[in-house]
Amino acid sequence: MIIANWKCNGTKKMIFSWFEDYGKEVNFVDVLPIVGVAPPSIYFGYFSRENASLKFIEWGLQDADHLDGPRTGAISVDMLIDMECDFLIIGHSERREIFKEDNDLIKEKLKSLNNRVTAILCIGENKEENNKGITRDVLKEQLDIVNGLELDQSFTVAYEPVWAIGSGLTPEPKDINEIHKFIKDVVQSNSANNLVPKVLYGGSVTDKNAESFFKEEFVDGALVGGASLDGSTFAKIVNIFSGIDKK
Ligand code: PEP
Repeated sequence: MIIANWKCNGTKKMIFSWFEDYGKEVNFVDVLPIVGVAPPSIYFGYFSRENASLKFIEWGLQDADHLDGPRTGAISVDMLIDMECDFLIIGHSERREIFKEDNDLIKEKLKSLNNRVTAILCIGENKEENNKGITRDVLKEQLDIVNGLELDQSFTVAYEPVWAIGSGLTPEPKDINEIHKFIKDVVQSNSANNLVPKVLYGGSVTDKNAESFFKEEFVDGALVGGASLDGSTFAKIVNIFSGIDKK
């Protein structure tokens, strides 16, 4: 699974060249991975399922509000279902930091989704926590929100070390692999249905380093920010993922 998080980036012009560049570069292999784009929601009108270059692309929201009603500026989970979105990203570190979202709120969002579309829950430690060697404790606490919940088979975690986002820095692939195994074990032990989630890696993934991550046993794909803004680069990352045989 490869997901593009465009964050608050894009213009009409960029979107049309993105579609064209992506369509030219991507390999339509027999077994296509799940590929999704989360654009800023004001641009959803361009993500028509009739668009040939987008036929195999899912689309989703970068975040949503768990309630409808008097919440100026919000887009709700029910609206996302109504518009047949395929996935919802929750708990991104920028939502936690800039918009002060805490675990309780993120849990409300997950519960309100009620397994109706794929949830992609972002978790990750900051530099200080990494330096202190408490990464696993931080991740375990962020994962507390799944405790006792019945999770859909599609439930996905994105491991995104905050210090790796947009910095060009990444952990070593083998360290990412160990953390992904840890995340799978924690969710399996704590969810009501003992679900083993898919775990994506996110943080400075490019077409140059993607292969080193995708080769690792417990890396089920990537959440890509900066490098997803160029259709051709994003397609290259998708092609690398499609070409990996983990058997
Ligand atoms: C992100 O913020 O989800 C992300 C992965 O960003 P980048 O790829 O730019 O580090």
